[in-house]
Amino acid sequence: ALARARAAIADRARRVADFPKPGIAFKDLTPVLADPEGLSAIVTALTHGCSRVDLVAGIDARGFLLGGAVARELQVGVLAVRKGGKLPPPVIAIDYQLEYGTARLEIPADGIELVGRRVLVVDDVLATGGTSVAAARLLEQAGAEVIGFAVIMELAGLGGRETIAAGLGDVPVHSV
Ligand code: AMP
Repeated sequence: ALARARAAIADRARRVADFPKPGIAFKDLTPVLADPEGLSAIVTALTHGCSRVDLVAGIDARGFLLGGAVARELQVGVLAVRKGGKLPPPVIAIDYQLEYGTARLEIPADGIELVGRRVLVVDDVLATGGTSVAAARLLEQAGAEVIGFAVIMELAGLGGRETIAAGLGDVPVHSV
């Protein structure tokens, strides 16, 4: 599955220069996820060897697509970690820095039992790691235990893995 997933990414991922700001090389994985073989291989590769997960958390917005599929594969539920202002109250929120600007993430404060639950955080791209650490801190505020990260692509040289290790300790990061 890993080889098939990597082939799908090599064939279909697009690199868009200077988006959304000058100097940013945006990795567009939309065509990879739109391809049946690409989606299937990526979900299989990301969930391989993954055990004892209670809940998958997908990060706004492309992490939602992947998160739902990964959750179904692991036979667990999915939670959307949303950008600020999208969820009805009450919410738990966190503000953080990202590669291009600042942002807020939110999860519901009510209706989902997170205390003691083992959560796998899923997103498409790991860049600086700021979003991943913020999402994990938010989930931990709600009482969850973040047991790992799963991403399709990790951008070399931006220190995402190191930022996660510095912020959260020895939490596994799985990237295709
Ligand atoms: P970061 O917090 O820097 O790790 O950024 C990760 C988040 O921003 C993810 O949700 C990505 O979808 C998005 N992102 C950051 N940089 C890029 C990039 N160069 N290409 C595509 N998505 C990116």
